[in-house]
Amino acid sequence: MEGIAGAIARIGALDRQLSTLRAPVPSGQFGALLERSMTVVAGSAAAGTAVPAPSAAWAAALRPAALQAAPDVSAYGNGRIPESALTSIGGDDRLQPSAAKLFLSMRAEAAMQGVELPVNDSYRSLQEQEEMAERKGLYSEGGWAAKPGTSSHGLGLSVDLQLDGEAQRWMRDNAGRFGFVEDVAREPWHWTFRPEV
Ligand SMILES: [Zn+2]
Repeated sequence: MEGIAGAIARIGALDRQLSTLRAPVPSGQFGALLERSMTVVAGSAAAGTAVPAPSAAWAAALRPAALQAAPDVSAYGNGRIPESALTSIGGDDRLQPSAAKLFLSMRAEAAMQGVELPVNDSYRSLQEQEEMAERKGLYSEGGWAAKPGTSSHGLGLSVDLQLDGEAQRWMRDNAGRFGFVEDVAREPWHWTFRPEV
């Protein structure tokens, strides 16, 4: 009897977990990411292999209501997003709400695995990008700064991380699940939130 009750309880728990994944795919940039993760889960189930339980943080981030609650604030303009429209990821560092949410989930999961992801830089105002261009020179002139008004830091979508070898590997293995990509070839520290990629 206890065996059957236990099995019923397990089925109930599994069904609750799956109902998160069955929720309708939200429109916008998260749709493709969510759809892909659902396809992966469906594929594993069809193959008869064990489906790994999504981390609590990841499952929460995928909840459609949470995604729709995160506004896209790019419309303010590059380097012109007010502080109040950005979300803190610790210290003076801020990102767009959607990017911040997924970054914090990613950092929490890394921490659970003993990997630190310290942030060196994140959102940059137009003035900060201008100062950086003066200090480090423009990419177009062999330097290390994007032209003011064109940096993904100005949209609150990029973080510069201080990564040791283990953390770099962790990011390359895991960041994609959180929508972050290493999108500047000679800057392994620069990660951008591009869940549509
Ligand atoms: Zn950067």
